[in-house]
Amino acid sequence: MVQLTFYGGINEIGGNKILLEDGERRLLLDFGFPYKRHKLFYEEYLKPRPGAGLLDPLAMGLLPPLEGLYRDDLMTPGLWHEFRQTKHYRKLDGVGGVLLTHAHLDHSGHIAFLRDDIPVYSTATTAFIAKAVQDSGKADFDQQVCYFDHKQPGRPSGWKQEALLTTDKKQQRQFCLADAELKALSEDAVKFWLKSPGQKPLISCSLTGHSGCSFNLRCFPVDHSIPGACAWGIETSSGWIIYSGDLRLHGKREESTRKFIEEAGKLRPRALILEGTNVTRETNVAEREVYDNGFKAIKGATGMVIADFPPRDVGRLLTFLQVARDTGRKLAILPRDAYLLKTMRLLEPEIPDIAQEASIVIYQDTIASKSPNQWLQNLCKEYGSKMVLAEDVRSAEDKFILCFSFFDINELPSLRPKPGSLYVFSSSEPHDEEQKIDFGRLHSWLRHFGLRGFGLPVEKNGDWEIPEAERGLHASGHACGPDLLDVARGIKPKVLIPVHSEHPDFYADNFRGSGIDIVLPAVGGTIEA
Ligand SMILES: [Zn+2]
Repeated sequence: MVQLTFYGGINEIGGNKILLEDGERRLLLDFGFPYKRHKLFYEEYLKPRPGAGLLDPLAMGLLPPLEGLYRDDLMTPGLWHEFRQTKHYRKLDGVGGVLLTHAHLDHSGHIAFLRDDIPVYSTATTAFIAKAVQDSGKADFDQQVCYFDHKQPGRPSGWKQEALLTTDKKQQRQFCLADAELKALSEDAVKFWLKSPGQKPLISCSLTGHSGCSFNLRCFPVDHSIPGACAWGIETSSGWIIYSGDLRLHGKREESTRKFIEEAGKLRPRALILEGTNVTRETNVAEREVYDNGFKAIKGATGMVIADFPPRDVGRLLTFLQVARDTGRKLAILPRDAYLLKTMRLLEPEIPDIAQEASIVIYQDTIASKSPNQWLQNLCKEYGSKMVLAEDVRSAEDKFILCFSFFDINELPSLRPKPGSLYVFSSSEPHDEEQKIDFGRLHSWLRHFGLRGFGLPVEKNGDWEIPEAERGLHASGHACGPDLLDVARGIKPKVLIPVHSEHPDFYADNFRGSGIDIVLPAVGGTIEA
């Protein structure tokens, strides 16, 4: 009997943590960061204590109490003694790996806690994006997906309280690439992977009867708002179990999602674990509409243009690159986006080469360190002639589209755009109170500098809505309700298990009497498949 236990992603969007057990064989399906629960207790300046290791996330219910699953160096004395009585506690050995669907942190962001001998199965693109994001970002200790700082108990002199102190020793997690032959990777790609200290070489995994995980696996590329996303198929003693990850049918790679539906359907699966982020939406905005609407908005603009879209959405970046070409502007991207593009090009040669692409420049933002990180130093060396400064943009405002997100808006005092300059918002509307507060802040920034927002949600009686005439500038990473029903009908599992949704009842309402049984999981609950 196959058992599926859901430790995250239930009645929330993201934080997926699913344990699949078939006798003695075990796998995790994603091991994501639970943003919703995290925000209940923490904010930017109130975080789990890095020196407390596993204690904080276990005590606050951010990690399931599974003894044997986590890294030894994060263990404080007597830790499990504290948690043996908690709900859902159990001993867990023999997890053969994590099947990671994509590099969004709500799917990958708790992998850092797992025992270091648990490998991650992913596409090559997902592995490379995860590393690029970690190299160029400020990953907290609990979001270190590809490699992590080893910890050791100790105390500074004069301090009595012992803690887990960060050492210089970096350790890398084993990644097994599901869709790439290692010998087909370029030398530069292999070098990129091995550049950080302590990195283990990549291995490619044979998906049938892999010695480590002992399941037959299928990896299906799907379309989502980050490249490299996939769905997984696992052959168990009860039949195939399909796990969708996040997907859509209206992006540039929609064909891959259609192929997934067809191929997964042929397996006549026992169960389908399906996302339901946008079940309440009736329609989607397609990526090509984003181009059309973005072009229309920017075409007549006379001053500076800032485009705000989600980080890591390379597809959207390419959409705005086309808008830049067609409006006679240059796309000014931040160094971290340049690093990501360069990384993706190691695997996908159709990604533009920054050095050769006349319409891309790199905006050098204001940093405060005399010796920036290695990745940034290398980037400056490689693309020196492509770097533009705030003063370059100021002196030719109508020649650029700046790619900023909300958290880069603090560059405006250096840029001082002409009043009436354009801020094009191409991202999702606020979902929680914290995001609404951020939108209030964004509006204050725009007012202060006299910028004109376009596609930007405005507050109306406590609700935030995009003005009617300015819609269609964001294509969601997730399929709408009717498309999700098509996914389920096409795959036709015996059992459908909704995850990653605040409205899982949607599936029950739509499939009553259809021959597809809907089983709603509970947090920490087990479903027998
Ligand atoms: Zn996602």
